[in-house]
Amino acid sequence: MFRAKAYPTNYIQEPGILLQTGEWVQKFGSQPLIIAGPTAWSKAGPQISASLLQCEIDFQLETFEGHCSDEELQRLLSKVQPETDIVIGVGGGQCLDTAKLIANHLKVPIINVSTLASTCAASSALSIVYTPEHVFVRLEEFDRCPVAVLVDPDLIREAPLRYLTAGIGDTLVKWYEAYPINEGTFKNAKTMAGLKMAELIRDMLFEYSEDAVIECQRGETGVALRQVIDCNILLAGLVGGLGSHTCLSSGAHAIHYGMTIIPDMHEAYHGELVAYGLLCQLKLEGKSDEELTELIQFYQKINLPVSLFDLGMKSIDEDPLRQAAAKTCLPGSSIHRLPFPVTEEMVYDSFIYIHQLGQKLQYV
Ligand SMILES: [Zn+2]
Repeated sequence: MFRAKAYPTNYIQEPGILLQTGEWVQKFGSQPLIIAGPTAWSKAGPQISASLLQCEIDFQLETFEGHCSDEELQRLLSKVQPETDIVIGVGGGQCLDTAKLIANHLKVPIINVSTLASTCAASSALSIVYTPEHVFVRLEEFDRCPVAVLVDPDLIREAPLRYLTAGIGDTLVKWYEAYPINEGTFKNAKTMAGLKMAELIRDMLFEYSEDAVIECQRGETGVALRQVIDCNILLAGLVGGLGSHTCLSSGAHAIHYGMTIIPDMHEAYHGELVAYGLLCQLKLEGKSDEELTELIQFYQKINLPVSLFDLGMKSIDEDPLRQAAAKTCLPGSSIHRLPFPVTEEMVYDSFIYIHQLGQKLQYV
């Protein structure tokens, strides 16, 4: 059985939309529990609480601390008031993933307020659970989709730009990862829709990303930024929602998981590692220097990493890179979805090749 989930039920991206939070809550519940990241709440909280107050809605506010983990879930669940009939998540990816776990546990609807455009967590009907030390534990899928996603593009613009560009990296890879694993196979309607959505996102990000970055730097919420926000938060979630069994991640995400064991790279964002991983994947696929250069030049325009130095490495040490290549190629890794055998040696060579090419292009 191939199941598709096209979520969320409502998605609104509009400056000032959070001043309508109360009206949205009233459509689905009356006693909200708010799970909010501290920074997110300092930015979005005044508008949300003003709106709830105006609609005479009492709410319980709990602060999200750290990672989306079972420990954090239990800590927050122990505080839930029995009358809670709706959850509001306010923040970035891990906070919203935690809020979704809570809503699912309580069997109540969830409204997500996304304050960053770095992931599609606000729209998706799944959560990624880690240990408190940020080691991947599991992916949990839900039968319920968020009933509403509210996005104020002004708040996204005011957040550090790196979140937006990392989100572009994580979203851009979807087509590149899904395309090779479906090549030459029968594609059902859901797969075709997912692939088309991924292709559309790729083209839109090429068209609008550079201008979106410029708009953020100028402090303007323009058309380009708003298009990129829709790609990163709404459309990205639809790729996996439509083609959940076929439009999957492959090389870039596998390489990202491998590189997470390199201590020097611990400060790099998920989308940044994935973006570098995509360059390595394309090298593994035998793409030409011309094609790689085109993508590297796009990365340079929006400040995505094009070398191992950009990802935080201070020197090119063989040992950690070989360990990362070994982790990338573990049995069951998504690297093996690529339609050809991939070895540790090939992955290691791709790390170095892209680094050298990126360095060369950085100084021309
Ligand atoms: Zn990702």
